[in-house]
Amino acid sequence: MTDDWRALDIANPTDEHSMLREMVRGFVTDEVEPQALEYNRDEKFNSDLFRSLGNAGLLGISVPTEFGGGGMDATAVAIINEELSYSDPAFCLAYLAHDQLMVNNLAQNGSQEQKSRILPKVCSGEWIACMAMSEPDHGTDVLGMETSAVQRDDGCWVINGRKMWITNGSIDDEGTPADVVWLYARTGTDEKGRAEITTFLVESGTEGFSVGQKIFDKLGMRASNTAELVFQDCVVPPENVVGSPGESMIHMMRNLELERLGLAAMALGITRRCLSIMNRYASEREAFGRSIRDFGQIQRHIGESWAEYRAMRAYVYDTARQIDLSKSGNRLDSDGVKLFGTTISKNVADRAIQVLGGYGYVGEYVVERLWRDAKLLEIGGGTLEGHQKNITRDLSSDADAIER
Ligand SMILES: Cc1cc2nc3c(=O)[nH]c(=O)nc-3n(C[C@H](O)[C@H](O)[C@H](O)COP(=O)(O)OP(=O)(O)OC[C@H]3O[C@@H](n4cnc5c(N)ncnc54)[C@H](O)[C@@H]3O)c2cc1C
Repeated sequence: MTDDWRALDIANPTDEHSMLREMVRGFVTDEVEPQALEYNRDEKFNSDLFRSLGNAGLLGISVPTEFGGGGMDATAVAIINEELSYSDPAFCLAYLAHDQLMVNNLAQNGSQEQKSRILPKVCSGEWIACMAMSEPDHGTDVLGMETSAVQRDDGCWVINGRKMWITNGSIDDEGTPADVVWLYARTGTDEKGRAEITTFLVESGTEGFSVGQKIFDKLGMRASNTAELVFQDCVVPPENVVGSPGESMIHMMRNLELERLGLAAMALGITRRCLSIMNRYASEREAFGRSIRDFGQIQRHIGESWAEYRAMRAYVYDTARQIDLSKSGNRLDSDGVKLFGTTISKNVADRAIQVLGGYGYVGEYVVERLWRDAKLLEIGGGTLEGHQKNITRDLSSDADAIER
């Protein structure tokens, strides 16, 4: 046996991954960081910068190259999310909604015709996409969804209902909708009373589809747009149904694994930035004639944050390594890594504010924004309680997972 495996950096396992990280880091320094404070303050989505991610080859990173994507894997997704969130988690949330919630989903589950027609547009940035699952009255309880679709005699589907909290649902403040929505709707009820769910591709301009409202005044993630979407007798042609009617639970659950990894990778970026800021500040700031890093209580903030950051980095990239985008089967770890990582990122951001004192409390010093953004990660893509519930259920049916 050789010692080569010791050289493996799990966060950059191949040269391609290292080059991707380096490229995104450069893009973040030059393009993302200079606009982050302003767009957060103004609650604006930077759609021009977003579209330029297409030129950089980052939209559709997991899509096969024949459709204009990057042809990469879940580790690449984690790298991009980590690096974008080091600077601007809200901008990254818009990226996640497009790249992971819609584009990857289409690449994995769409028909050849749907992929050829839509993927080149969403990979280039010509189209901005979103995924609509949550509703005003149904979030965690997703199978209770009320948005319904009924097929007409001519084969078209008529959709009625409302979707809530949809990232990229509106791309501006004037109610311009996303160019394409990956929409989950109820098309039947099984014998246990649960929704049979079908996926529809609803394109902007479809009659009966509109933005209800852009949601303002969010605690964090303010530079990503969140909207309510309305479907009122919205007619969608049969060629815009993804897969077979009633069978979308399978791809919904599979894609949630990537979403949860993606959100955990965002938490990792937030954690690294907060640790970096508090570490530097602790050397620069003096109190009582000494550097504040000489104080034991400050050492506790830095020491614990370092240990948690390192554990989280290993868990994020170990989970990414195991995810095969074409299969489900990593629910325990995708729930686990999000449960673990998101609360750490909030706690490390909190410590960073504490180490910076009053300066930590104002926008210019970044950490207060990251603290606000981190909180969303405990809610979106599954709440902490949802992850606890899933993990406990999965360990009941597969107790051997603990011993493997
Ligand atoms: C900024 C933002 C962006 C979002 N983007 C999107 C998006 O792009 N697409 C999309 O579809 N959705 C999106 N969401 C919605 C998000 O996924 C939901 O908010 C989330 O799933 C929780 O649903 P809820 O808000 O309805 O809360 P609820 O499900 O009503 O939960 C309320 C509380 O009850 C708890 N709870 C519920 N059920 C249980 C249970 N069985 N056991 C224990 N506790 C339980 C929850 O954990 C929570 O603490 C976004 C939300 C936000 C805030």
